[in-house]
Amino acid sequence: MSDPCIFCKIASGVIPADLIYQDEHFVAFHDITPQAPVHVLVIPRQHIASLSEADDASLLAGLLEAVRKISSQLALVPAGWRTVINTGTDGGQTVMHLHAHILAGRFMQWPPF
Ligand code: 5GP
Ligand code: ZN
Repeated sequence: MSDPCIFCKIASGVIPADLIYQDEHFVAFHDITPQAPVHVLVIPRQHIASLSEADDASLLAGLLEAVRKISSQLALVPAGWRTVINTGTDGGQTVMHLHAHILAGRFMQWPPF
């Protein structure tokens, strides 16, 4: 069996991470290289390489629901936050396990570069 990816190892507790949220299907933890005062990653426990391979609509809805719950937990309302899902090479995805970024604590420029 091939070695699990780094986010699978975080989800299973093999690699320690600063978990700020977990439920049956999702885990959230602080990004190791934060790009904003708040930078959290939300991942499904199930290994799915990217959004392009995520064909389970209930899982995708659950991912957004987890983002919403975490935004409340971290008191990001009403200032707001940005949710990003980088997908594939041109999308800037570097870890091939589906994840949503939650970025907050500063004004987010648009467009992103
Ligand atoms: P991507 O570029 O794939 O959208 O985002 C991957 C993110 O994972 C990056 O922001 C990177 O800093 C973060 N990351 C990579 N390895 C680790 C790790 O071992 N622990 C944590 N907490 N974050 C990681
Ligand atoms: Zn994985």
